[in-house]
Amino acid sequence: MADLTVHRATSLLESSDPFDFADDLGPAKVVHLTERTTGLRAVVVIDNVAAGPAVGGTRMAPDVTAAECFALARAMTLKNAAAGLPHGGAKSVIRADPRMDPADKERLVRAFACAIADLRDYIPGPDMGTDEQAMAWVRDEIGRAVGLPAELGGIPLDDLGATGFGLAVAVEVAASRTGLELDGARVAVQGFGAVGRHAARFLAERGCRLVAASDSSGAVVDEGGLDVGALADTKAAGRSLCDLPGLGHIERDELIAVDCDIWIPAARPDAIRADNVDRLQARIVAQGANIGVTREAEERLHQRGVVSLPDFIANAGGVICAAVEYAHGTRTEAFATIDERIRTNVTEVLDRASSSGSLPFDAARQMAQTRVHRAMTTRRWT
Ligand code: NAD
Repeated sequence: MADLTVHRATSLLESSDPFDFADDLGPAKVVHLTERTTGLRAVVVIDNVAAGPAVGGTRMAPDVTAAECFALARAMTLKNAAAGLPHGGAKSVIRADPRMDPADKERLVRAFACAIADLRDYIPGPDMGTDEQAMAWVRDEIGRAVGLPAELGGIPLDDLGATGFGLAVAVEVAASRTGLELDGARVAVQGFGAVGRHAARFLAERGCRLVAASDSSGAVVDEGGLDVGALADTKAAGRSLCDLPGLGHIERDELIAVDCDIWIPAARPDAIRADNVDRLQARIVAQGANIGVTREAEERLHQRGVVSLPDFIANAGGVICAAVEYAHGTRTEAFATIDERIRTNVTEVLDRASSSGSLPFDAARQMAQTRVHRAMTTRRWT
């Protein structure tokens, strides 16, 4: 049986045979879509719908693959199950350059929406290359999407920092378990986008000191504490963190070795790997990025006593927010739900990991899989 969950997915990414990706959890449906007028080429993987209609992003990039879609759909099944949402997991990919002419992009996204109209157990959301505007077009065509603009009842999760908020909650739980006092704790954040900048902000509100942060151009450091608001304003103005005057600079990838207590990957996959894991100084790693830590690095962190909070537990704030939006909830309800779900889940994952001696990642996967299997027993067809 293929084991697709997050880390394992990477080993299957070269396969072109859909049967390689099937196991007892899914996928329930795999649909290839082509449409000649607009040049639409897309794949939808609805992995598992036991808990309810599957929620998962629509990714647009020139190099997306069906294999990537399988792996991401499975990750959504686990993330949604772990978060206790009434939704299964799915993903879709559109092979196209998202920077195309806006009118062409609208036609393409609308064509995609029409092509998935009958896939009623799939609810698309924004992902790389698509945004709330794209979801508004999808909703206009087929009446369902999450991650909508506020005018359509959407909760602007990236502006509000839903995922960063959830990360801060996850860190709070892990810190109390490891005896780390958050007041004055030193934080390093890799990637200062929608996830990283809000994680830094919510941790600063809890008394943490941001001592280093990076973006794609470089990294800035200040042992005395960086001004999170000033860094966020710099990024919002379309500039690099390194453009802000008066700060120390290090090479972008040297962020891994910064002396700190909490390290947050919030940019690319595989940020912590076998070749750099031993340079990490932190006691807690809170994974904002998806697949931010390789399997080898997870094992090494565990050996060293570093608490690594799994991505699909710690970065679930965004999808929890999307689910609350879909249920017509408010932003206040969304943040309360994120707080409650992530606090409970991190506690359970760390309890399970410490009682079994396993990696938090494995404990989390076990917990999520059990929930999916239980949901499956309630359904005639899954
Ligand atoms: P974003 O595009 O808003 O921000 C990414 C940031 O990373 C930018 O500041 C960019 O300059 C920086 N960056 C890129 N490459 C880098 C590198 N090599 N080193 C350091 N910085 C680098 O993206 P985002 O929405 O913040 O998402 C970040 C990660 O979190 C992605 O892996 C995404 O899949 C994941 N994620 C996002 C959400 C969400 O709610 N947005 C939810 C769950 C997971």
